[in-house]
Amino acid sequence: MDHGYIDDHSVAQRYVGNALQPEERAAFEAHLVDCQECTDRVLLAEMFYARQEEPLPLRAKLAARLKPWQVVLIFAATVVLLVAVPALLIPVLLRLIR
Ligand SMILES: [Zn+2]
Repeated sequence: MDHGYIDDHSVAQRYVGNALQPEERAAFEAHLVDCQECTDRVLLAEMFYARQEEPLPLRAKLAARLKPWQVVLIFAATVVLLVAVPALLIPVLLRLIR
């Protein structure tokens, strides 16, 4: 496997993305052992992939870490706040109007 082929077929990117045929993968791994340039390509592709996966879900990651009772607690606290704040504000506003 040479660099012309690796560049033309985006081998490093496909290697990271697990999209290589088994023979292609074996050939690239054999080449990778001795090639700093391709090792760098693979690292770069990995960084690119890692960054692509990130933007999705900070909220989803947090939600996945929460236990169900914690979700219920957060929901209940939100409801209480949404009800309590207007309930406290309305009498104050009514007094201001009069
Ligand atoms: Zn190489």
